Amino acid sequence: MVDPIYLDYAATTPVDPRVLDAMLPYFNETFGNPSSVHRYGQQAEAAVESARETVAAALGCRPDEIVFTSCGSESDNLALRGTALAMREKTGANRLLTSRAEHHAVSKTAEQLEEHYGFQVEWLETDGAGTVLPLTVEKAVCKDTAIVSVMYANNEIGTINPVAEIASICRDHHIPFHTDAVQAAAYLPVDVQSLGMDLMSLGAHKFCGPKGIGVLYVRKGTPIFPLQTGGGQESGLRAGTQNVPYIVGFAEALRLTAEEREERIAHVRPLRDRIIGTILEEIPDSRLTGHPVTRLPNHCSFAFKGMDGNLLLTLLDAAGFACSSGSACKTGNPEPSEVMTAIGLSPEWGLGSLRVTLGAGTTPVDVDAFLKALPKLVEKARGLTGDKL
Ligand SMILES: *Cc1c(COP(=O)(O)O)cnc(C)c1O
Repeated sequence: MVDPIYLDYAATTPVDPRVLDAMLPYFNETFGNPSSVHRYGQQAEAAVESARETVAAALGCRPDEIVFTSCGSESDNLALRGTALAMREKTGANRLLTSRAEHHAVSKTAEQLEEHYGFQVEWLETDGAGTVLPLTVEKAVCKDTAIVSVMYANNEIGTINPVAEIASICRDHHIPFHTDAVQAAAYLPVDVQSLGMDLMSLGAHKFCGPKGIGVLYVRKGTPIFPLQTGGGQESGLRAGTQNVPYIVGFAEALRLTAEEREERIAHVRPLRDRIIGTILEEIPDSRLTGHPVTRLPNHCSFAFKGMDGNLLLTLLDAAGFACSSGSACKTGNPEPSEVMTAIGLSPEWGLGSLRVTLGAGTTPVDVDAFLKALPKLVEKARGLTGDKL
């Protein structure tokens, strides 16, 4: 059996062999606890601090503004919950502004802050492309706003938000601005000075680093409480012995990603455009979801009318293609994802979503094979869906 063709780089990416090589010595050679006083500890601490400097250089910030976490989701949780609580204590502000198109790591955290912590969430509308417009934020902010959180690039539909403009609005109102850049970091600049956000989440496994390691950038002076208390690691913001090999891996993956970004964009963008052009032309009742232009260069996402998206994924998998959809799979009661609803798709369209995301390993031959197979599989999935929807 040949390996299936992987077209799901937005879900995760393989670890770059150079990243793995950089990590390996820190499992059992330089294995000390960075908090220990002796030389084993000093060596491990030096590795963590050197990684922190590498990350800070890539983000254009100070090393002490970098907090290593266990993943992108944890970074989102720390940003939202940690800053909402600290802001409320400092100023009494009790409102959160975020959108329904956010990753669940943000939206579910906001819902929990509303249900159990006494905050009020105001959900920002997106336009039909999934963009949060600066004007929408400008109209919604008030003196009771504790934090604004708007993602940099959407994982489901690829749309890039005008985060620099939103950051500038928040700065004018002295409200901390968080952005989830987990999906964006592989392809977009992440310089926090020109972008201007106060908090930014990253996760290594979306840019060829290992799973289980993330970063939260915290601009100096941003009010924030730790969610995990204990030994005072990470400037007191995230207790627990640091995961040294993974921190080293994060830094190396981010360094390589920044260095090789232009080449990677030049590789994936034409493939992306070919997929989008061909599918819209050849498959009836199909549409692109997300922004047609302001979208991640490796990201294609579609909706097919009158088709169960999960059924299509199963057929694709059987035919040797690994893709993804946006609909939450609930047995018996399929529902479109919040993102599909946020961009105004009816269930008839929203249940038939398909996400195809490319990476360094994607070849033109892969794309040809995919484009040859897809129309028939969509037709088959539509037939099997019948009038179930
Ligand atoms: C993948 C992803 C996350 C979650 O990151 P993990 O490291 O898997 O926890 C959060 N936000 C976005 C936009 C993502 O794409």
